[in-house]
Amino acid sequence: MLLPMRSGRYIPGISAEAARAWQEDVRAELFRYLHLDDLAGGPAIPLDEDLVSNIASTAASAGFVRSEITLASTLTRRIDAVVTLPEGDGSVPGVVCIHGHGSDRRGVYATDSIYKGFATELARLGYATIAVDVGQHEVCEEGRLLMGERLWDCRRAVDWFTSHPRVDAARIGCAGLSLGGEMAMWLGAMDLRIAAEVSAGFLTTMDQMEQNHCMCWKFDGLRELVDYADIYALTAPRPLQCQNGLQEDETQFFVPLAWQTLEEIEPAYRDLGGAGNVSLHVHGGGHEIDLPALVGFFEKHLKN
Ligand SMILES: [Zn+2]
Repeated sequence: MLLPMRSGRYIPGISAEAARAWQEDVRAELFRYLHLDDLAGGPAIPLDEDLVSNIASTAASAGFVRSEITLASTLTRRIDAVVTLPEGDGSVPGVVCIHGHGSDRRGVYATDSIYKGFATELARLGYATIAVDVGQHEVCEEGRLLMGERLWDCRRAVDWFTSHPRVDAARIGCAGLSLGGEMAMWLGAMDLRIAAEVSAGFLTTMDQMEQNHCMCWKFDGLRELVDYADIYALTAPRPLQCQNGLQEDETQFFVPLAWQTLEEIEPAYRDLGGAGNVSLHVHGGGHEIDLPALVGFFEKHLKN
């Protein structure tokens, strides 16, 4: 039986109260489709953090300590993470930094990459950062989904921030490029603790993702319920910056398609009183981070 596509799409022009009810309904349904409703609605799982190593910073004056740790993601699965904390004491904002296909948790710290070392730059500017792996294509636990496990691991990164005495739980952001931009979209949409989000090299439509892309984005029920504009609309009215490069061609994360998708996100932001909080930053590059725009966004929204 063929089900209608995007039956849960956002219908513009409703009251803020109705928009919030729509968000709650769609979020609950997506948690079910992601096979995460038991974890999301269940008791808190201890992080059970283990320190693997403290990595000496190459520049002694960098002002932060970088560590490799492991965490319990679920009661039966552990994950690796890279974390940085500014030296000193005092409360700091935190950003979950998410890599794309073909990279891993360390990639977002590499300055000579499409990530422009954005995690290192944020660490240098006094943010706590954390990065986990989302590039796996195997499901680890029976009964889970790939996208569900990736999202849950990103939520555990937020748990690490909220449990850390140095991190201000009201100033947690997330950012990523490509698959990382997709995971930033999911994390902002599904975790209300995210106060500000940068989703780079991803804003597009599901029709476009059906062509020329790894199909790991798709799972049963998703397309029948929503398109990407609706998932981004779950982040409203919290600050969201999307980034797309002019060098992206029409088979990739093409700027005209990004503008078209943005137009479908904006109504939810308007209806929820955050009209100025969503933007598309178009830069002259390709499939890469625009570092000044990312940094400016977090300095504005997480440093006040
Ligand atoms: Zn993939």
